[in-house]
Amino acid sequence: MELRTHIRDVPDFPKKGIVFKDITPMLGNPAALAHVVQAMAAKFQGQGITKVVGIESRGFIFAPPIAIALGAGFVPIRKPGKLPWKSRRQEYGLEYGTDTIEIHDDAVTARDRVLMVDDVLATGGTMEAACKLVRLLGAEVVACAFVIDLAFLGGAKRLDVPIFSVLEYT
Ligand code: AMP
Repeated sequence: MELRTHIRDVPDFPKKGIVFKDITPMLGNPAALAHVVQAMAAKFQGQGITKVVGIESRGFIFAPPIAIALGAGFVPIRKPGKLPWKSRRQEYGLEYGTDTIEIHDDAVTARDRVLMVDDVLATGGTMEAACKLVRLLGAEVVACAFVIDLAFLGGAKRLDVPIFSVLEYT
């Protein structure tokens, strides 16, 4: 499957200097979408995953079908102020300024083995903060899975668990 042909580079989006990986052509192609979800789920079959955490917003596209394939639950990590129940928050640094993500207090427990999912690994700041939140609640982070690893940005170095990506750009 020539997946790369279904990923579109959009220069200077959302701001100058960033080459945005637009996955919407891949999402719209039935064979490509099925291939990506199946590849991500297959890698983690039989590892006792109980929860699949998706990071808002594009992590929400992939985490639920992977959770269903693994017989696990889905947990959303959201942008601030979106979750209705008691939540924990984690701030993390961006190139300019900071960002914050949140998780419900009761979303995972010490009995959970968690797979973390997002669409793109860039600098790794978002996923590093997401892993902190899950561990704060006592759960075990088993691995992180991405559709795309922008390996030239070195995000994997910030993550202390195994990472899996369907596509790597070097
Ligand atoms: P980072 O925290 O730098 O690893 O950024 C990860 C988050 O930003 C992911 O949720 C991605 O959806 C998004 N992101 C960062 N860089 C890109 C890019 N070049 N193309 C598409 N999404 C990106």
